[in-house]
Amino acid sequence: MVHELPKLPYAFDALEPHIDKRTMEVHYGKHHAAYVTALNKSLEGAGAVSSWSLEDLCRKISKVPAKIRTAVRRAAGQHWNHSLFWTLMGPGKGGEPSGKIAGVIRATFGDFETFKSKFKEAATGLFGSGWVWLARNPRGKYEIVPLPDDENPLMHGMRAVLVLDVWEHAYYLKYQNRRPDYVDAWWNVVDWEAVSKRV
Ligand code: MN
Repeated sequence: MVHELPKLPYAFDALEPHIDKRTMEVHYGKHHAAYVTALNKSLEGAGAVSSWSLEDLCRKISKVPAKIRTAVRRAAGQHWNHSLFWTLMGPGKGGEPSGKIAGVIRATFGDFETFKSKFKEAATGLFGSGWVWLARNPRGKYEIVPLPDDENPLMHGMRAVLVLDVWEHAYYLKYQNRRPDYVDAWWNVVDWEAVSKRV
């Protein structure tokens, strides 16, 4: 199958001032697009795995032929991660969690402030590039999981609920070295309704 860049569900400037238009143009239009191109290229002539869905490529990455596994993992992971990341943000969102996710946060972390502070600690503590997730483990428990580079919860048998991209390309144009400020600003665009659907 041919993998495609999903349509961004809002305009490039829709998340201003928290996430700026230029960052969105480059992040979605260049970085994400390049991962999609790289994924299609990595699967050229790859036989059976070239017809796998994006989710299957992540879930069953250990079954992908060793020769192309790293290239496929990088591109498929980044494609899947970005595709989810865009859908969990939106203009005029943020605020207190609502719906099912509010219950999960209360039951797991006590309150929203504690959750935010733990999530921020994980996001600022992740060395180098990666993603910070709220994920549900196979035992049904929710946990904050920082993962390096291209990895995602699917590759670890977990379900992804919420995610923040902490690669420098996600914030450097506006926030430079101030990753903590980017994390603080990001809460203003989190779409809790969309997150609740993943609980
Ligand atoms: Mn990114």
